[in-house]
Amino acid sequence: MIPIVSKLPQVGTTIFTVMSALANEVGAVNLSQGFPDYDTSPELIKLVTQAMKKGHNQYAPMAGYMPLREQISRKTEKLYGVNYDPDTEITITAGGTQAIFTAIATVIRPNDEVIIFEPAFDCYAPAIKVAGGIVKSLELEPPDYRINWDMVKRLTNSRTKMIILNSPHNPTATILQQKDIDELSAIVKNQDILILSDEVYEHLIYDGQSHLSMARYPELKQRSFIVASFGKPFHATGWKVGYCMAPADLMNEFRKVHQFLVFCVNAPMQVAIAEYLKNEETYLGLREFFQQKRDYFREGLKSSRFEILPCAGSYFQSVRYGRITDENDTDLAIRLTKEIGVASIPVSAFYNQGTDYHVLRFCFAKRQETLDKAVDRLIKV
Ligand code: GLN
Repeated sequence: MIPIVSKLPQVGTTIFTVMSALANEVGAVNLSQGFPDYDTSPELIKLVTQAMKKGHNQYAPMAGYMPLREQISRKTEKLYGVNYDPDTEITITAGGTQAIFTAIATVIRPNDEVIIFEPAFDCYAPAIKVAGGIVKSLELEPPDYRINWDMVKRLTNSRTKMIILNSPHNPTATILQQKDIDELSAIVKNQDILILSDEVYEHLIYDGQSHLSMARYPELKQRSFIVASFGKPFHATGWKVGYCMAPADLMNEFRKVHQFLVFCVNAPMQVAIAEYLKNEETYLGLREFFQQKRDYFREGLKSSRFEILPCAGSYFQSVRYGRITDENDTDLAIRLTKEIGVASIPVSAFYNQGTDYHVLRFCFAKRQETLDKAVDRLIKV
């Protein structure tokens, strides 16, 4: 046997895979891994079929199908009032996760420090470690999970290469506010600090609030890789199509890595999404669609003993359960899946040290019947 020294000794199988597998095994309502249980639009499926029939079955261009990049540029201009050049500043990726990995692999060298905020989506820290970087995490606490920028300032030094942000935030459903943008801008100004901004839930934001994309602020835009996804807005997480936007000099380096990681992303989906995006209602109508689900789920949970935490964006609703039990969140998530038949994600899985504030995350991107079934069971806990 050749000895292998793991680059990720602490990493097992992702919590999403574990909880979805358990939910399937015991036949539980699966509100754990974030994906919808309703189908994507028939029109979009028709467009994919047409693209295949028209012969879009060979490699797409390395950076992505140009009409799709043009539509993304148009959408970004419309939403955030800023131009990204489809030729040099936008690349189509195999989902948000590949974009995140690629951006990190592009710029992080051994011993570079990267600041992340925990709870953090689970792919950030491993990608940093594989690149040899050092994870500097700042823990956020329920119920409001706000970033303490004085602490961020204290964490930054000459080795700080990148800050990773995620708004709307998975798993806590918080969003960045103007105050956060101002504090962040002041910290990075005149520093060689890059930003990786995971904005995959940009269209899922509620109560009339605005998504404060890094694209809106010149000081931040010039140093940012912005990552977005089509899986979330178009109910097609299995298609694994997303994209990255960055200024041309950063994007040029990003593509050097991207081309050897995946070369390009599947062609027919790109052709179909380019056509579908021409109708802006396809993404502008999402707020109402998801807000209705959020409100329905929250209303249902009101008669439960769970404490419902705020949800400003994303399709996740977190709850605290301190009034119900003092068992740890992983044990409770497993027990609820097996005993009452509702699967969730224990939020300790998003902390490097496994910090447990007794919070569970539920995904509400589900049909009404599914939410009804889950609520009926959760109110009995
Ligand atoms: N983004 C989804 C979630 O947070 C799942 C992603 C995955 O399974 N890797 O649940």
